[in-house]
Amino acid sequence: MRTPLIAGNWKMNGSTELVEAFGQAFSDVTLPAPLDVAIFPPYPYLDVARSAFAGTPVRLGAQTLNPLHSGAHTGEVSGRMLREFDVQYVLVGHSERRQLYRESDAEVHDRLLAALGVDLTPVLCVGETLEERDAGRTMEVVLRQVGFVMARLEPEQRARVVIAYEPVWAIGTGRTATPEQAQEVMAGIREYQAGYDRDLAAGLRLLYGGSMNASNAVELLAQPDIDGGLVGGASLKVDDFLAICQSAG
Ligand code: 13P
Repeated sequence: MRTPLIAGNWKMNGSTELVEAFGQAFSDVTLPAPLDVAIFPPYPYLDVARSAFAGTPVRLGAQTLNPLHSGAHTGEVSGRMLREFDVQYVLVGHSERRQLYRESDAEVHDRLLAALGVDLTPVLCVGETLEERDAGRTMEVVLRQVGFVMARLEPEQRARVVIAYEPVWAIGTGRTATPEQAQEVMAGIREYQAGYDRDLAAGLRLLYGGSMNASNAVELLAQPDIDGGLVGGASLKVDDFLAICQSAG
């Protein structure tokens, strides 16, 4: 009943050449159905990606957005602008933004609300640090991040959010959460959502992120509460990303 989503977050990587290579590779591929696929390239590649991915199953995502529509905010990009380039998804609260750019839960909420306001599907990223996991605080941290945002949304808005669980210690480290570790947290997120609404929780799409690759994707995606992946490093290699998509059947 939940359509899996495989999302590739290129972070500050990629090139026009890579966009073209993805367009080419996905132009005549048979993917498992149902499956949603999206690539989140850096802003400058959105336009070329829009053309390169036309006629392929790949949809476009952006890595962040400013909560405002326009104004004197040098360096920022609004959701309304992203929509002009056929962007459908946007990440909010990625741990790199929380850590490197000091984004608070309140800012994450503002961005997510702005995304919903222009009909972008927000992918809310949450996850604990190694220190927090070792201190036995994983669920507390994750549910605080989820709860802060969800508690401030209308039921209709909650239903449009995708949540990505990305343990910080697994991002870019080659150290993946075990399928059991990931499943445990994701079941906890779904259970938390069920406190609002059982149907909403049953339909909520939950992605795992953190060193997902072509070898470990099958096992992770087989978990009952894992509906897809948010892939970093492995989404920069066409063959690996394709293999992960094929694992989502
Ligand atoms: P890696 O797959 O490189 O660990 O990155 C995960 C991530 O942060 C995706 O948003």
